[in-house]
Amino acid sequence: MPSIKARYAAANAVKAFLADVAAHYLGGKTYDHKRPGWGKTVWEKTLQYFGDRCVYCNVPRDKFPSGVRMTMEHLIEENQFQCGLHHPANTVPACSECNQSRDKAVDGSRLTWEQHLKNIGNKKGYNRATIEKRRVAILTYFEGLDYPKLTTEESTYLQTTSRELYQDILKRCTLGTRGFLSLKGKEPVQLKLRTLSKISSATGRNHKKMKIE
Ligand SMILES: [Zn+2]
Repeated sequence: MPSIKARYAAANAVKAFLADVAAHYLGGKTYDHKRPGWGKTVWEKTLQYFGDRCVYCNVPRDKFPSGVRMTMEHLIEENQFQCGLHHPANTVPACSECNQSRDKAVDGSRLTWEQHLKNIGNKKGYNRATIEKRRVAILTYFEGLDYPKLTTEESTYLQTTSRELYQDILKRCTLGTRGFLSLKGKEPVQLKLRTLSKISSATGRNHKKMKIE
């Protein structure tokens, strides 16, 4: 069974692939919103466009509950299921709560951003017109920044390749670990918590000693 770390690595490989494909539509450049440059400027303008609010719950950043932060949300998710490109048109601000709560639909497929927007709006008690107004604002942004119009062949290719890439990484992690363990030929080793308490008490003593000196 692949570990959670292996799954993160596989998901990140898919993200890297989708960012590389997106670069083709961005003059060969990867969209980087964190480092100073055009990507950061674009992201700042995106935040401005949405009034520095979460696109889903509409709460402004300065009113976020404690522990909630602003994140970059991909409208078409950048994963093996939706294969959304890492392109400015596909990225909008969302609070970490709304971003993380975008779960799977009942049939196991991922929710579209429109379904997610509707679910959150209903939960918050917004009326239909308010939710629709927000949906149109997001769609106007998405279409205004020219998200690439992919052909069916291109979309299918992205999906197939993303899934293969994801599975390849998991397989390599599993095989690598299995190979390593066959070299060692050992059963899993338990961490001795007794050792850990020795370390912490030793550190405590050292601290005291240092203070005295
Ligand atoms: Zn939110």
